[in-house]
Amino acid sequence: MATLALEAFQRQPGEITGSILEAIGNTPLVVVDGIYCKFEFLNPSGSIKARIAHYIISRAEREGLLNPGDTIVEASSGNTGNALAMVAAVKGYRMQVVMPNGMSSARVAISKAHGAEVTLTGNFHVNDALALAEELGQQPGYFCPRQFANEWNIEENRHWLGDEVLRQLPAEARPDALISGVGTGGTLIGLGQALRARNPRCQIIGLEPRESCTIACDEVGHHRIEGISDGFIPDIVRNHRDEVNGLVSVDSDAAITEMRRLARDHGIFAGPSSGAHLLAARRLREENPDMETVITLFCDEGEKYLTEYYAD
Ligand code: PMP
Repeated sequence: MATLALEAFQRQPGEITGSILEAIGNTPLVVVDGIYCKFEFLNPSGSIKARIAHYIISRAEREGLLNPGDTIVEASSGNTGNALAMVAAVKGYRMQVVMPNGMSSARVAISKAHGAEVTLTGNFHVNDALALAEELGQQPGYFCPRQFANEWNIEENRHWLGDEVLRQLPAEARPDALISGVGTGGTLIGLGQALRARNPRCQIIGLEPRESCTIACDEVGHHRIEGISDGFIPDIVRNHRDEVNGLVSVDSDAAITEMRRLARDHGIFAGPSSGAHLLAARRLREENPDMETVITLFCDEGEKYLTEYYAD
């Protein structure tokens, strides 16, 4: 039997690295159903949030806001907590994640596995966790990244994630639209700014769950697209609202059905927000056939939802 041409599979191996943090980024941009999808779920700690965790902690160290022996405390619906717990483990900080009850159980377990302390407060929405994390962060020897308000979040998404996407897109491609779910809004605003630098007319569209379209319709409801719509309008969105062209919504059931289809039909094992992102991006393209280059993100991995949404 003829052997396969191995050159078709072999890529140049990456450089030898000093820690897992150097494996963050350089995620593939894959065309799925005609949409450019950034595979952020492949980051260490299983989500897009590895980038801001690494970026904000490095910057805080450089600016003297975080010193050896300190504790990092942050409010999160889970993924930022997982990512910061990973960074803290690498760098030797204590980590306290403050998160709501009712999120997928893996999110708590993953932070704990990295040695973090997890404090649960409130239900599903992050409001109570935010207040507690900010209060704890006032103590001497504590640093709170304040992901929902910190401009470094936008800065990272513009320069790290954003430059990466621009390098990956075909040189002739003009980004027509970005669809991004809104947790902190950092991805939407920061990546949006990067794409607009190539095409000033690029549409920046936020995605919310239909049951909790807080920015578009002032509603805070229970939904199952974990990681977006955390119960309030984040400062990042409030401060950059004029950069957003529109908001779309997807209901939780549709997002989960689409997430499962992604695994079955495309071999992509991701979370409900990825399903929501693809669904919204496809709809946008159907409604605007002139849009050729629509960009979206698959933000976290399916393993985090095995028990809750993939069980059967
Ligand atoms: N999807 C998932 C699964 C997330 O965890 C997050 C971040 N919380 C987002 C989307 C949205 O990212 P951002 O915080 O940049 O708005």
